[in-house]
Amino acid sequence: MEKIRKYDIVVVGAGHAGCEAAYAAAVLGSSVLLVTMDLNRVAQMSCNPAVGGIAKGQIVREIDALGGMMGKITDSSSLQFRMLNRSKGPAMWSPRAQCDKNKFSENWRIALQECKNVSFWQGSAVELILEGNFIKGIRTDLGIEFYADAVVLTNGTFLNGLLHFGKTQVGGGRISEPASLGISEQLLSLGFRIGRMKTGTPPRLDRRTINFSVLEEQAGENDLQFSYYYKRDFILKQLNCHITYTNERVHQELEKGFKFSPMFDGTIKSLGPRYCPSIETKLIIFSDKLSHQLYLEPEGIDSTEYYLNGFSTSLPFEVQEEAIKFVPGLENAKIIRPGYAIEYDFFDPTQLNHSLESKLVNGLFLAGQINGTTGYEEAGAQGLMAGVNAHRKLMGDSPFLLTRDQAYIGVLIDDLVTKGVDEPYRMFTSRAEHRLLLRQDNADERLSEIGYKLGLLPERHYKVFKFKSDLVDSHLERLKGISIRPELVNDFLIKNTSSPIRQRSKFLAILSRPQVSLKSLLLDIPYLGKYFKSIPEDIFDEVIQAIEIRIKYAGYIDREFLVADKLNRLENIKIENKFNYSEIQSLTTEAREKLAKINPKTIGQAHRIPGISPNDINVLLVLLGR
Ligand SMILES: Cc1cc2nc3c(=O)[nH]c(=O)nc-3n(C[C@H](O)[C@H](O)[C@H](O)COP(=O)(O)OP(=O)(O)OC[C@H]3O[C@@H](n4cnc5c(N)ncnc54)[C@H](O)[C@@H]3O)c2cc1C
Repeated sequence: MEKIRKYDIVVVGAGHAGCEAAYAAAVLGSSVLLVTMDLNRVAQMSCNPAVGGIAKGQIVREIDALGGMMGKITDSSSLQFRMLNRSKGPAMWSPRAQCDKNKFSENWRIALQECKNVSFWQGSAVELILEGNFIKGIRTDLGIEFYADAVVLTNGTFLNGLLHFGKTQVGGGRISEPASLGISEQLLSLGFRIGRMKTGTPPRLDRRTINFSVLEEQAGENDLQFSYYYKRDFILKQLNCHITYTNERVHQELEKGFKFSPMFDGTIKSLGPRYCPSIETKLIIFSDKLSHQLYLEPEGIDSTEYYLNGFSTSLPFEVQEEAIKFVPGLENAKIIRPGYAIEYDFFDPTQLNHSLESKLVNGLFLAGQINGTTGYEEAGAQGLMAGVNAHRKLMGDSPFLLTRDQAYIGVLIDDLVTKGVDEPYRMFTSRAEHRLLLRQDNADERLSEIGYKLGLLPERHYKVFKFKSDLVDSHLERLKGISIRPELVNDFLIKNTSSPIRQRSKFLAILSRPQVSLKSLLLDIPYLGKYFKSIPEDIFDEVIQAIEIRIKYAGYIDREFLVADKLNRLENIKIENKFNYSEIQSLTTEAREKLAKINPKTIGQAHRIPGISPNDINVLLVLLGR
C-alpha cells in the first residue's frame, strides 16, 4: 500500500504557489502529488481577478522566462491588458492583465493535467509525517497517508483562517471554504515561529444591476501579452473596466457602521497591508479627502460578477449595501458576495534558507502567503523556486538561487529570509536596488538561459529566445557603424523638438536623444528600414524596443552593472556557520542576536539584515582577516 502512495514530492495547496511548485517539479522529472482542498478551485483568484501591475508584472515575466506558467495562463485568460507607467522610464513599465477568473483556474487545471508527473488528491492535509527532523509525507483529514521525501506547503490564507463580516466571525480560508487546521499547531510544536496577518476584499456586484452609462470607461491595449514564448492562438473577448468615485454621502453611510467594525473595536489585531487599506481605513487616514476612486472590474466573460476595486471592507453587509447605493452608477447595484476581512497564520520566513527549505525540518519547503507575502505573483514566484529546489534536493543538486541583481524573484526571497516581514509583503520597484536592470522587457535576457539549463524552459522556447537575443546583439553591433546625413533626418528631428544636426552623425547618438523613438524614426524615414529588414514581423516591436532601451539607457545600465558587481563581491564572502556570534563582544547586542538568528550565508546577506550596521560588518571582515 505504501508504494502506491509514495511520490517524490507532495505539494499541499493548489493555489498560485502550489500550482507553480507542482508544475516546475514535475517538468524537471519528479513525481508530484498535489493535495488540495477543492480541485474545482485550482489557482482560485481569492481577491482581484488581475495579474501583474507595478513590480508584480516584472515577476510574472520572470516566471515566464524561467519556464513557469503564470504568464501563459494569464495570457490565455485575459480580458484586458495594459502597460502601466508608460509615462515613466522603462524600468517602471509594468504589464497588468484583467482575467476571466474561471478561465484562469480552468487553464491552470488543464496545464497541470497535461503534466504526466502530476497526480491529484482532493482533501485537507492535517499533519506532516516526520522521522526525526526529516519529512516523510503528510496525513489527510481522512487519515490517509501520502509519502514523499520533500513536501512543499503552500496553504495561503487558510491556516486557522478567520473571516470577519462586521461583528460576525466565521472560520474559513476564503468565503465559503473551510480553514486548514492542525498544521500550524504541529509546526509550532516543532519550534517554528508563527504570526498572524490580515487581508480584505471588496464586495462583488451583479453586472445586470450596474448603470454603466454614467461611468467612465477604461479600455485596454489588447495586443500585449506576458509570455515571451507562447503566442496566443485566440484572444478572449476583451472587456473594458469602469471608473467611479465615492462621495461624502457614501462616507457618511460607511461611518455609521464604524461601531460595528472589527478593525476598529480591536477584534482584528493582526496587521494588514498598509499599501492596500480598506475603505474604512482610507476614511480615517485620509479624512480630508471627499472622494476615493473605485474601479469596476469584470470577473469573467460569462460571469455577472464585478469586482469593486478600492472598496475592500469588513463592515457589516448591511452597511456595505447602504453605502454602495450612493456611488454613481451603483444606485441599484446588488451585492453578490459581501466584502470581508480574513486573519490567518503565517510563518516567520527567516526560518527558511534561500532555497525556501525550512531550517528546522529537512525536506520541508514553504512558499506563498504562508511566508507572510501577499499577491498571486509573489506566491507563484516562490512556488516555482520551491518546486525547483525540492526537486534539486532530491537529486542531490545544489539549490537554485537568484541574486538581487538577476531578478525581482531574487529580491523577494532574499528580503523574506533575511529581513523577515512585519506586514504582508508585496513587491515594489523600490525594493529592488538594481531595478534598472530588472525590467519587464528583459526578463528573457536575464533568465531564459538559466531556465533552459535548469531544465524548466523547453528547448523550442530557448531557441526563440536565442534567435531574438542574437538579432538584438547583431543589430546593435551593426548600428554602431552607421551614420546619418543631416538632410535625411533633420525634418524628423525638428518635428520632434530635437535640435537638427549640422554634419553626418552617428545613428546611435541620434537614437539616444530622449525625443527620438526608433519606431517613429523608422515610420518617418522608410529608407532606414533596410537596416532592420531581417527582423521577422511577429517579433519586430519586441526587438526594436530591446535595441532602443539598450541604446538610450546604456550609460545608466552600465553604471548599474558596476554597482551590482561591487555589491556582489560582498556576496562572495561566505560566512555561514563561521562564527559563534554570541561570543563576539565587539558586535552590538542587537547584531549578535540577529546574526545568530539568521546565520547569514554571506557578508552581503549580513549587510542587509535590518539593525546590522556598517561597523558590525567591519567587525566580521576584520575577524575574517580582510
Ligand atoms: C479575502 C482575501 C483578500 C485578499 N486580498 C488581496 C489583495 O488585495 N491583494 C493581494 O495581492 N492579495 C490579496 N489576497 C491574497 C491572495 O489571494 C494571495 O496572496 C494568493 O492567493 C496567495 O497564493 P497562495 O498560493 O500562497 O495561497 P492561496 O491562493 O490562498 O491558495 C492556497 C491553496 O491551498 C489550499 N489549502 C490550504 N490548506 C490546505 C490543506 N491543509 N490541505 C490541502 N489544501 C490546502 C487551499 O484550498 C488553496 O487552494 C487576498 C486573499 C483573500 C483570501
